[in-house]
Amino acid sequence: MDVTVEKIALITGANKGIGLAAARQLGERGIVVVLGARDEVLGKQAADALAADGIAATPVRLDVRDEDSVAEAARTVEQRYGRLDILVNNAGVAGSFTGAPSEATAADLREVYETNVLGVVTVTCAMLPLLRRAPAGRIVNLSSHVGSLALHSDPQSPLAGVNMIAYQTSKTALNALTLAYAKELRTTPIKVNAALPGVVATDINHHRGPRTPAEGAGIVVRLALLDDSGPSGQCLADEGPVPW
Ligand code: NAP
Repeated sequence: MDVTVEKIALITGANKGIGLAAARQLGERGIVVVLGARDEVLGKQAADALAADGIAATPVRLDVRDEDSVAEAARTVEQRYGRLDILVNNAGVAGSFTGAPSEATAADLREVYETNVLGVVTVTCAMLPLLRRAPAGRIVNLSSHVGSLALHSDPQSPLAGVNMIAYQTSKTALNALTLAYAKELRTTPIKVNAALPGVVATDINHHRGPRTPAEGAGIVVRLALLDDSGPSGQCLADEGPVPW
């Protein structure tokens, strides 16, 4: 077991997009990154790409919808490091449903919730015992401005015309999970926050967006590295707190 490293971070869905950019930025700061990917080959390719740039990252197979793979990933982290300092719940999907809210079925929402909501619960439950062993555990949940009920209910908001029932309500639920965990853990050193990366050009939105994955990862890294005086139970973007 290598307990000599300063900090260990596990990022789900880290084989591409914002997760991979966050892995790179944390690795550049000397943090040991465990790179979660549901496809072992893609995970290894991503770790090799980081290694080529001198960044050590250990790939683990981790499908947030597969409890056995999550438990196995937790065992790997425990055996190698004995603890976890940073958990980034990054894996996410947009789902295939694009119609009006009234046309969506439970199955359309389930497809997205299984990953964006229930996957976060599975991973957080499995990793919390390891986070509790760290001196200052941090959980960062990748949420979105579209999860904000305050923005959706404001007719002047840029989101007034946005109504993606499956994806946006999954991120609202994720915000609620963030608060629930933060409330429970407020008497511990563990901080739990939601990171809003802005609109980032990645596969999830067919590369439509003004921001790069590296820019989107900035807030993730900031929340992953919060010091003891930092917030917990907040929804934060580069521009500051975003209303729930
Ligand atoms: P992306 O490039 O499509 O990356 C999504 C990642 O999640 C991929 O690595 C994907 O793996 C992984 N994933 C999906 N389902 C998974 C599962 N069941 N188990 C494990 N990994 C799984 O998209 P991204 O933009 O970087 O998204 C990262 C996070 O940021 C998501 O939670 C997204 O909702 C959030 N976000 C993105 C934006 C944006 O504008 N891009 C804005 C706000 C929030 P595969 O390669 O195997 O599919």
